[in-house]
Amino acid sequence: MMLTEEKIYLKGFRSWAEISRERLIKNVKTIHNHVNKHIFAVVKADAYGHGALKVSEILQDIPYVKYLCVATAEEGKELREKGINKDILVLGGILKDEVKCFKDYRLVPVVSDFEQLKIVRENDIPKIHIKIDTGMHRLGFLPEEVEDLIQKISGLKIEGVMSHFPSADTDPDLTNKQIKDFEKIVKIFRSYGVDPDYIHLQNSAGLMYECSYCNAVRIGISIYGEKPSDSFNIPVKTVMSVKSKIITVKKIKKGQTISYGGRFKADRDMKIGVVAFGYADGLSRELSNRGYFLINDRKVQIVGTITMDMTMVDLTDIEGVKPMDTVTIVGKDNKNEIYFDDIAKMCNTIPYEIMCRISKRVRRVVV
Ligand SMILES: *Cc1c(COP(=O)(O)O)cnc(C)c1O
Repeated sequence: MMLTEEKIYLKGFRSWAEISRERLIKNVKTIHNHVNKHIFAVVKADAYGHGALKVSEILQDIPYVKYLCVATAEEGKELREKGINKDILVLGGILKDEVKCFKDYRLVPVVSDFEQLKIVRENDIPKIHIKIDTGMHRLGFLPEEVEDLIQKISGLKIEGVMSHFPSADTDPDLTNKQIKDFEKIVKIFRSYGVDPDYIHLQNSAGLMYECSYCNAVRIGISIYGEKPSDSFNIPVKTVMSVKSKIITVKKIKKGQTISYGGRFKADRDMKIGVVAFGYADGLSRELSNRGYFLINDRKVQIVGTITMDMTMVDLTDIEGVKPMDTVTIVGKDNKNEIYFDDIAKMCNTIPYEIMCRISKRVRRVVV
């Protein structure tokens, strides 16, 4: 099986990300039990850095996962070429030069404006989802365009009607208004005899709202085990852990500096570990002199500027660390755990970005 083969392969890799099949499946199942709606699993951006092919292979066999969602036709094409058979929804819409790709690879576009509607009509795209802009102000038909839109979709298969929340994590007033506004729009479609199979609005943060007229949810971050908001109360668990290795351990003297720019100066004799993980692996340089890793269940402080391929840590008070020892960049090491959110907070961003930043050099392994 792939698992053992990959575990053997792993031996030659300096840095890798372990993707827990069990946790991924469990998260989707837990969310499905909670909302009891069809699941559209969002696997855009290489499944938020988890590896879109591997995640799709695991999720496509779950019967209540109805769609895999990608951002671009190119992402959909890649999944099809590697044997994914599930329906694929392209959230980012359809551009003129992508028509062939949509047709060749059986991709379903989210249509967001009249230009795209024309493209879909002229090229006999068999089914589409329609996006309504209820407040995100990025993609989607405006509510006042809906009546006109309905006149122009006769004969097309409208499989879904959707909208999107910009601030389900922070703005309940806007979110509740969107839920009401979108319901009115769905009713307008129905009053003209348009009865889509899927009505979908909620993203992960949106799962904390009632949305009884919707029958599907588009979820990304929560299936990967990260909470989209502080109030999120579905018990999901982190799917990806990121690991690396110690390359070498060395001593430096009081007064000497570490790494580019000499931004760390030793105030005592120190023992330094060099870790095979740098900004090219996805570790933000902002964590220089600030972040930490786990080694042998101990927190070890990053010292000096993070370099492209390596990062130095303070091992002065830790015994026995040697080359090849495992370093946890994200995830659990016995009692301690570093979450994507911990790193996101230190970098003044969101866990989504930290996940997406883990680079291609970091080998993904399903465990
Ligand atoms: C990325 C995306 C989602 C998933 O959002 P999460 O917060 O990760 O659950 C849902 N809908 C659209 C339109 C998206 O672009």
